[in-house]
Amino acid sequence: MSTQNVPDLETFIGGVRKRNPGEKEFHQAVQEVAADIIPFIADKPKYQEWEVLRRMAEPDRIVMFRVCWEDDNKNIRVNRGYRVQNNNAIGPYKGGIRFHPSVTLSVLKFLAFEQTFKNSLTGLPMGGGKGGSDFNPKGKSDSEVMRFCQSFMTELHRHIGEDTDVPAGDIGVGAREIGYMFGQYKRLTNSFVGVLTGKGMEFGGSLIRTEATGYGTVYFMEDMLKVRKDSFEGKTCLVSGSGNVATHAVEKINQLGGKVVTLSDSSGYIYDKEGIDADKLEYVKELKTVRRGRIEEYAKEFGCEFHAGKRPWDVPCDLAFPCATQNEVTKADAEILVKNGCQGISEGANMPTELAGIDVFKEAKIMYAPSKAANAGGVAVSGLEMSQNSARISWKEEELQQLLRNIMKDIHDNSAEYGRESEDYVNYVKGANVAGFVKVADAMLAYGVI
Ligand code: NDP
Repeated sequence: MSTQNVPDLETFIGGVRKRNPGEKEFHQAVQEVAADIIPFIADKPKYQEWEVLRRMAEPDRIVMFRVCWEDDNKNIRVNRGYRVQNNNAIGPYKGGIRFHPSVTLSVLKFLAFEQTFKNSLTGLPMGGGKGGSDFNPKGKSDSEVMRFCQSFMTELHRHIGEDTDVPAGDIGVGAREIGYMFGQYKRLTNSFVGVLTGKGMEFGGSLIRTEATGYGTVYFMEDMLKVRKDSFEGKTCLVSGSGNVATHAVEKINQLGGKVVTLSDSSGYIYDKEGIDADKLEYVKELKTVRRGRIEEYAKEFGCEFHAGKRPWDVPCDLAFPCATQNEVTKADAEILVKNGCQGISEGANMPTELAGIDVFKEAKIMYAPSKAANAGGVAVSGLEMSQNSARISWKEEELQQLLRNIMKDIHDNSAEYGRESEDYVNYVKGANVAGFVKVADAMLAYGVI
């Protein structure tokens, strides 16, 4: 046991950078957490002496592997697969699988680190992990995606299990990919167990898992608004992305009386001044999950603006919901949002705001819900899917909707408790970091040095 003093932030992050060269997303995620945890543990010697934070920032295990598959033209293709098992102090590793060309070890390490805190915040017994591949599902046929998923799972199955590590979906991994991967796991192991979440309803899936992340992100905003005795009624909202999280965020905002005027994908954003109502949203879901088309087609269909190669943050709004990907809100974007009168941000995507952008929101003292708290609804319902699989039962939709709503409120209230800085300002970043840290850290202390 070391008795050295807790380092300052720069020394700590310097060590993280040195041990993980070039992994800028991972450095960013650790820095965001360490900036709150180092002051929090300054008067708590047990966490310092047992090097808890440093151990959390070192994954338990990383698996990297080759994924070979044959495309429709009989070419042999080679991708790289990963699973980062960050921390299982409070439960089996749990976190999504991402298929996107931008996937690197750094991206998955940041996501697995964040996931550890997020899963702790849900109050459910889940550790943190994340996996994926640089495989790009866009433009691939169904059979190519199936062959890739089967090859990916042929290696991954050795490292996961219902009590070990339970992956789910993420960018590029939806119901189709989960089905192919679950089928291959079942074939290889000759067992039907809840080893993945986000499954189809016919084979152990849970109701409302698909909606949970987007809905949860909006619920978190609803709870922040309630603290200010405000509501969604009549608010103009920006949403980025047009995938699972984005479309379900729009659905819930509409139900709560807000108006969403933007959606985006990696080629640009649409600006629909009239609002994206339920019928238009159905069009987007069909466009993205069935036809797998581009958001620009929405602008042609409904006669609104399309801004190629841009993100939506310069459109004036009351509330903003980044739901596409990491670092999609820069410092300049944050400044424009604040200047245009945006009162609150709730993050559906993981780490969508750069560190300097977060500082802008904090300085402006607007409502800002960081992803590890705001988008925890998805993994929370994944946790409920695991419980249903273990008990071999299916809960009804109303029960699950209520459980999700309660979990999001608890996450909000816990984060608000640790993050309250004055009567009228809550620093939810600090609140979520500290609330997520304490449970994992105390479990690690109980285990001794492992
Ligand atoms: P989807 O694959 O369903 O959708 C992703 C969306 O983001 C697409 O519109 C995609 O556009 C866009 N996008 C992806 N990469 C980029 C990029 N580099 N620049 C601009 N747009 C981009 O993924 P999800 O909706 O599931 O995930 C979105 C975010 O939410 C991710 O950060 C994910 O980690 C996070 N998240 C998801 C959860 C879930 O339950 N699904 C749970 C918690 C967090 P295009 O089609 O052009 O690539």
